[in-house]
Amino acid sequence: MVESLKVGLLGLGTVGTATAESLLSPNPAHALLKEITISKVGVNSLDKPRGVQLSAGVLTTDLEGIVSDPDIDLVVELIGGLEPARSLILKAIANGKHIVTANKAVISRYGEEIYQAAEQAGVYVLIEAAVAGGIPIIRPLQQALSVNRIDSILGIINGTTNYILTKMAAEGTDFAEVLAEAQQLGYAEADPSADVDGYDAADKIAILATLAFGEQVNLEDVSCDGIRQVSAVDIQYAERLGFEIKLLAIAQRDETGLQVRVHPTLLPKNHPLATIDGVNNAILVEGDPIGQVMFYGPGAGGGATGSAVVSDIMNIAAMLKSSQQVNPLIKIPQHPRSQLVPIQKLVTRFYARLICVDRPGVIGNLGTCFGKHDVSLESIVQIDFNNGLAEIVVVTHNVEEEKFRKALEEIPHLKGIDQIQIPSVLRVLREA
Ligand code: NAP
Repeated sequence: MVESLKVGLLGLGTVGTATAESLLSPNPAHALLKEITISKVGVNSLDKPRGVQLSAGVLTTDLEGIVSDPDIDLVVELIGGLEPARSLILKAIANGKHIVTANKAVISRYGEEIYQAAEQAGVYVLIEAAVAGGIPIIRPLQQALSVNRIDSILGIINGTTNYILTKMAAEGTDFAEVLAEAQQLGYAEADPSADVDGYDAADKIAILATLAFGEQVNLEDVSCDGIRQVSAVDIQYAERLGFEIKLLAIAQRDETGLQVRVHPTLLPKNHPLATIDGVNNAILVEGDPIGQVMFYGPGAGGGATGSAVVSDIMNIAAMLKSSQQVNPLIKIPQHPRSQLVPIQKLVTRFYARLICVDRPGVIGNLGTCFGKHDVSLESIVQIDFNNGLAEIVVVTHNVEEEKFRKALEEIPHLKGIDQIQIPSVLRVLREA
């Protein structure tokens, strides 16, 4: 039975500071917080001004010392990045310490190794803050929803891209302009690739899929397209056709198997995720027998993410007070490796925007080509006409991705189709 829990905090940045504030508050939000103390805080630089007042000697640059300090029960990893975060987590586990982390990059790549080490050491690794910041989603999947068979998880789990798409839709501005503005406001990083190319969302959906479907998802198998190809024109056309464009992270199991992917998606305006705007996140979980459950809220920010971190710390404190056994409902188990269905086998609807020389028979030729590849069209409309070029928008019925891509490959070689460009190809989701 542990009377008081001693925490070693790695990182005192945005999330670390909010976490320390909660743990050090003279008016803690929960009585259990009085039994948790911060023993050490590891940072890069001792000279930076800090947002929290720490006792003398608590702040250190010796992170190795924290993970091997015999007085520390729990290590909270909030430095981010892959290394030294991964090695520090593994060393802390080897030294018998419980782990709380917000590091989706490490968990999506090294979760298997980390959970295995934790299993052997008999310690907890809790990761509520690693996906969707302050929104509780990990524990609901593990506990409240655990008696359901999960069919799908659809998430808007990257605030930066949702902010950019929302702004593009509201103001009709193009991607590059809104990105520059988001960077100025601090909503996007100087190097925006992890967000706008979908990698951050891929990390998070890989973690959620592993938990929800009980199979260890390999990050490399997650198909990932970002939002760079989405233009203001596409957003306008989608709007006219009754859709919003969102970057969705999707994990779905059907008779063909499990598929995990991230891509910009046309969502019908009445879909529950279509109204999620700005930096907010939302996750729609569909399971049997529960049906649909939606989680919505702030997916980032120090306070929101710190709230998830502190709740994990409190959970471990509570578990250790009541038992020395690892609670199977709290710990993340090891899962067998997943075999994902490749994106070419995805059956979905598509939106494509094509530009070519405007001449009679173009639409007919396109229709014939799609038909030849078993692509059935819901609509094919000539939307605009500029400098002798026609802009044509195609929306398909459900079709296997491979067949649709083969039709697109053939289009430039069709007779009567000149100067063809296909600036956008987006997937379309049905009503929820
Ligand atoms: P941050 O503001 O950049 O803070 C990082 C902290 O870690 C700083 O205190 C830094 O020290 C320290 N640090 C980094 N590398 C270090 C090293 N090699 N040795 C010693 N100290 C090191 O990061 P953050 O935004 O708080 O993010 C922390 C984690 O939370 C990341 O995994 C991130 O993905 C995750 N997360 C963040 C948010 C969010 O809204 N920010 C939301 C969800 C999840 P110095 O202060 O001395 O530079």
